[in-house]
Amino acid sequence: MERLGCKKIKDGLLANLKERTQEFINKGNKAPSLAVVLVGDDGASQSYVATKCKMASLLGFVHFDYRFDEDLKEEELLSLIDKLNLDDDVDGILVQLPLPKHIDADKIINRIAKEKDVDGFSPYNLGRLMLGQECFEPCTPKGIMEIFKYYDIPLSGKNVTVIGRSNIVGKPISVMCMQKGVDATVTVCNTKTSDLKAHTLASDIIIVAAGRPGILDSSVVKDGAVVIDVGVNRVADPSSEKGYKVVGDVDYDSFLTTECKVTPVPGGVGLMTVVMLMENTLMAAMRRRG
Ligand code: NAP
Repeated sequence: MERLGCKKIKDGLLANLKERTQEFINKGNKAPSLAVVLVGDDGASQSYVATKCKMASLLGFVHFDYRFDEDLKEEELLSLIDKLNLDDDVDGILVQLPLPKHIDADKIINRIAKEKDVDGFSPYNLGRLMLGQECFEPCTPKGIMEIFKYYDIPLSGKNVTVIGRSNIVGKPISVMCMQKGVDATVTVCNTKTSDLKAHTLASDIIIVAAGRPGILDSSVVKDGAVVIDVGVNRVADPSSEKGYKVVGDVDYDSFLTTECKVTPVPGGVGLMTVVMLMENTLMAAMRRRG
């Protein structure tokens, strides 16, 4: 098996981003800035936000942090978004998902100004993605495309199966793989797919974004295929200090004796997502002020 680790890709992209950020600042521009909004005290969300803020600082970006209790009203969050949309010092707005149930996430995302939508989740940016037009691409799918590029994995004419049809991963990555010029043949599966195994066995590349640990193992994948594991799942682990460990959706060990190429978790797609958020933030700053 070949392990498609992403640390080297991340480090290379970060070095390049740092250089371009410095050039942007040297031209007399203020540093790119990201507003990071977190509602509630979900452990995973807190750790994602901490990673994003740390990476922003590392790159010399400014980040404005907004933390709220779980009981924040939807109207209050909408008002904050309105304020950030108008704030000339803010280039990108990131609202960490999931939001508490009483807040309509679609409504919040729709309110973010399209030129500050660095997560690329708004109907405007997703619509442009669908049409093959320039846009802020959602960070995780954008990161997956970088993995293909770095490891020189061809997509043209290949059969790609995507497991999962979320708006943030499954749908956009399927669109990106089928785009003219990329030219993969894409199948997108969901919980009602009648014979998942038939699709995975026929695929050259499988992208798993289901949130189900162990949903894919080597017995349902043809030897030599590429497997991209997007899943991030916390499972109980009494032997660890935290009481849990993070695993993907793929049974990684079952591939060890195969010729497949597989991304690990941790150390895979997750590393790319955060870098792509920074890339989109620099892009937002350049478009607004460059
Ligand atoms: P999601 O909203 O959690 O939805 C899961 C999708 O997988 C749904 O479309 C569901 O089908 C499908 N699915 C679940 N079980 C299935 C099964 N047995 N067979 C076929 N399809 C199945 O998706 P998400 O937000 O994209 O998250 C997926 C995973 O990726 C999670 O573990 C999440 O934490 C992780 N994630 C990681 C990153 C990263 O940076 N690494 C970023 C985002 C998400 P239905 O539509 O029929 O329910």
